[in-house]
Amino acid sequence: LVGSSGAILSYIMCRAMNRKFLAVIAGGFGTSGGSASKSYDGEVLAITASNTSQALQQSQNVIIVPGYGMAVAQAQGVVNEITKKLRGAGKNVRFAIHPVAGRMPGHMNGLLAEARVPYDIVLEMDEINDDFVETDIVLVIGANDIVNPSALTEPDSPIAGMPVLEVWKSKTVVVLKRSMASGYAGVDNPLFFEENTRMLFGDAKE
Ligand code: NDP
Repeated sequence: LVGSSGAILSYIMCRAMNRKFLAVIAGGFGTSGGSASKSYDGEVLAITASNTSQALQQSQNVIIVPGYGMAVAQAQGVVNEITKKLRGAGKNVRFAIHPVAGRMPGHMNGLLAEARVPYDIVLEMDEINDDFVETDIVLVIGANDIVNPSALTEPDSPIAGMPVLEVWKSKTVVVLKRSMASGYAGVDNPLFFEENTRMLFGDAKE
């Protein structure tokens, strides 16, 4: 039972990453090909929590993208409180879930369900990826690889070909993380250098 469930989960994960099963088992990320450290044009612009709050208040359409860092920070309860406040103010708040967000399939869905985020505003990548264009603000909470545009633009990247959440198409992106460190795949993320991106540095729960 353990073996076959492991195999099924691995298969689901490989499909989500657009990679061959054997390549994942034998290879791994960031270990061959592509350069792990790139420099990108543009500046890294930081934002404060109070300015993020202001930007949220001025927005109507909000999408939250949770990742592994939300689990590390155990921020799901606070995220639910913020969601309730924004929805109470009449805003359209939804969650975008990448199939390999976190460290196991369904990781984010489990955490959000535990925090009592309503199921009907938690959407899978394919359901919501086209909606970023009409979104005022995206909060990326401790996610990195799953929102990395280089998966689509850099053929030599270790994550090339992996479908990603196209958050950069929204008006503003706020990324919550502690530093400029890379994620699981060990690849730099040009999203952090985009003109419409702001970095909210620190522990996501704080
Ligand atoms: P990533 O691992 O790409 O990025 C997580 C980010 O969270 C880090 O860059 C880190 O940045 C930040 N972080 C960590 N702790 C905190 C904190 N306390 N507060 C705020 N931010 C924090 O995660 P993603 O979810 O974007 O992507 C998942 C990755 O895991 C993919 O590469 C996927 O292939 C892989 N994977 C997924 C599996 C699955 O089934 N879901 C299984 C195995 C691997 P910083 O250190 O700067 O804070």
